[in-house]
Amino acid sequence: TERTFAMLKPDVAKDSATVNGIKAMIDGAGLTIEREERCRLSRRQCETFYAEHAERSFFPDLVRFMSSGPVIKLELSGSDAVKRWRTLLGPTNSAVAREKAPKSVRALFGTDQQRNAAHGSDGVESAKRELSLMFK
Ligand code: ATP
Repeated sequence: TERTFAMLKPDVAKDSATVNGIKAMIDGAGLTIEREERCRLSRRQCETFYAEHAERSFFPDLVRFMSSGPVIKLELSGSDAVKRWRTLLGPTNSAVAREKAPKSVRALFGTDQQRNAAHGSDGVESAKRELSLMFK
């Protein structure tokens, strides 16, 4: 069994029907929600979380978006949890997700390349870093 960090972003976290829909998909994929916290991230917290993207042109916009409203932080567990959640998420760009993975979270609930409904750690090491950063 493995752990990963999932986060429902401000484009969906306020909508309880969407939140419940995503949670049902998590459950349906055989993943367990071990921990859940709703909060609002400061700009500073977003900058730290996305530090690897600091030089990208979309970074300031990403920080603005991620700090614009509540998020829901989740710790997920299950066999192959990191990959399983990434697969369930679908491609980064929600429009691409609708083409390539129409049943994925981003296809169903995301809007575009930035407002893409949810985050998932991209590996076991980043999952550890993100879980300890987000759950103090
Ligand atoms: P991971 O965070 O594991 O690398 P990801 O699918 O979330 O995977 P990243 O490329 O890391 O994608 O980008 C982080 C976030 O930044 C995306 O989820 C999205 O919200 C935003 N983003 C990525 N690329 C762009 C872009 N070209 N324009 C605007 N926002 C973007």
